[in-house]
Amino acid sequence: MRSGRSDVRGAGTLPGMGAYDLSLEELTGILAGWGEPAFRARQVHRQLWRRAARYEDMTDVPPPLRERLAAEVPLGVEVLEERTADGGATRKALLGLGPARHLVEVVLMGYRDRVTACISSQAGCAMGCGFCATGQMGLRNNLTAGEIAAQVMWAFREARRLPASTPRRLANVVFMGMGEPLANERAAFGAIERLVDPRGPKLGARHVTLSTVGLVPGIRHLGERFPQVGLAVSFHAADDELRDRLVPINRVHPISALVAAMREHRARTRRRPSIEWAMIDATNDSDDQARKLVRIARELGAHVNLIPLNPTPGWPTEPSSPQRIRGFVGVLESGGVNVTVRDTRGRGIEAACGQLRLAHDAAARG
Ligand code: SAH
Ligand code: SF4
Repeated sequence: MRSGRSDVRGAGTLPGMGAYDLSLEELTGILAGWGEPAFRARQVHRQLWRRAARYEDMTDVPPPLRERLAAEVPLGVEVLEERTADGGATRKALLGLGPARHLVEVVLMGYRDRVTACISSQAGCAMGCGFCATGQMGLRNNLTAGEIAAQVMWAFREARRLPASTPRRLANVVFMGMGEPLANERAAFGAIERLVDPRGPKLGARHVTLSTVGLVPGIRHLGERFPQVGLAVSFHAADDELRDRLVPINRVHPISALVAAMREHRARTRRRPSIEWAMIDATNDSDDQARKLVRIARELGAHVNLIPLNPTPGWPTEPSSPQRIRGFVGVLESGGVNVTVRDTRGRGIEAACGQLRLAHDAAARG
């Protein structure tokens, strides 16, 4: 006898599982339960992951099967809002993911030589960094591995709409959207596994970068499991006194432990880590902080990315002035550190760190 749940979702489906959460073996099992041959499952799986096709676009799958798949194994990706900036080279979507429609953001950035997707690992974040719009909303939900990977499949499709001045082919993925990936480690790692799967989109692991606020055990796990994946660590302060204030998790994993974990990661993976640093006016942009950062970055052989602060409604602070940023860069460079000032892509469409989601919530409230 069928349960109420499987009456709704169909016999053989896994409750709550969208298509991107299923392995090929699981999909094969479901279709076998419907009397479909194994090649159908391979065909559907290939199109989901290789061509980023939606069911309605799978013209070689018989229409009744497409309809049944859409009803019982939904893709679980709903585009709620899309915006573009930079002449179409930056594209951002607010997605509703999974049966519970968790709201997250994904951003696609086309450059002359590469296309990068910035994806979210959680709806909201529990880490509480005060300057971050996602931190200000708190943790709403963890995403599943399939829900994280599904954002990349949106980005693959969307890349075809980028201007001709870009390669129009997604090759890079960064976990720098909403959420702390190492606080949702199982799902984040499951997503990476799906993305680098030779039967899937076959992204190069070297083209995936995970950005973390500095969860020490997770950094170790990342290096063990995916030695080719890049590591970016959000520092924002180079001594514990300031970092405790800006990045509260520093009280649990202080700078000495973080640097030790990064050193170990570097030795294991032979990859240079990045250090992320939001430039916040009169807060963390002094020459003194820069000099302390030189010591850390040199010890780790790290590349430093400076991000002018994106002002958020919940934190009354300004980005550092261009002169101060130049001064900070000067100290780093004369200390022999490689440094890049990140461009402020997508400012006009609030394409940073949970801001589109905040705007959406505000509109929904009223
Ligand atoms: N939780 C992870 C990844 C998501 S945040 C992390 O913290 O690394 C991605 C990057 O955006 C981080 O470096 C984060 O510190 C930075 N960021 C967050 N809010 C910002 C803001 N208002 N302005 C500039 N950068 C910000
Ligand atoms: Fe979370 Fe990263 Fe924002 Fe901190 S900066 S609150 S860890 S998303």
